[in-house]
Amino acid sequence: MSYLMPVTGTDIWYYFICKRESWLMAHEIAPDQEDENVDLGRFIHEYRYSRGKKEIEAGHIKMDRLKKVNGELVVQEVKKSSTFIESARYQLLYYLDQLRQMGINARGELLFPEERKKERVDWTQESKQKLEEAVSDIRSIAKMPVPPEPKKITFCRKCAYREYCWAEG
Ligand code: SF4
Repeated sequence: MSYLMPVTGTDIWYYFICKRESWLMAHEIAPDQEDENVDLGRFIHEYRYSRGKKEIEAGHIKMDRLKKVNGELVVQEVKKSSTFIESARYQLLYYLDQLRQMGINARGELLFPEERKKERVDWTQESKQKLEEAVSDIRSIAKMPVPPEPKKITFCRKCAYREYCWAEG
């Protein structure tokens, strides 16, 4: 019997930001609760721009919005900023892929209301392959006895684990 760790859209989002964070989250290492700027839960909500909005759940995924446009099903993910757009794309592609596995074909849209920007995202065979690699890698990272070494990236400044990664002795 082999257990496959469920992978959520948030896991995908973090994986494309930082592999170390992926490990820390899988191991439920509590982020720094005291730093009010970097509270993980709050940051996710602010970043997702979904406070107070209902999410749509299907299996392990929670989507911001699902609607029909000209007979086509569209999954919309609303983000506060496009800074981490690659992660946002893969998170949305993951939703599209999960829906396809349930027999539902949809396209995606990333919305950045504060930047008045919108990006269309379509499922492709290449994206599916990349997602499969990511899911397998997320599970492998979770099994590692210690986290990958920290690497300084733009996200570190906002990351709830920054004290954990970068505090001087
Ligand atoms: S502080 Fe930086 S290196 Fe550490 S988990 Fe966060 S993003 Fe990754």
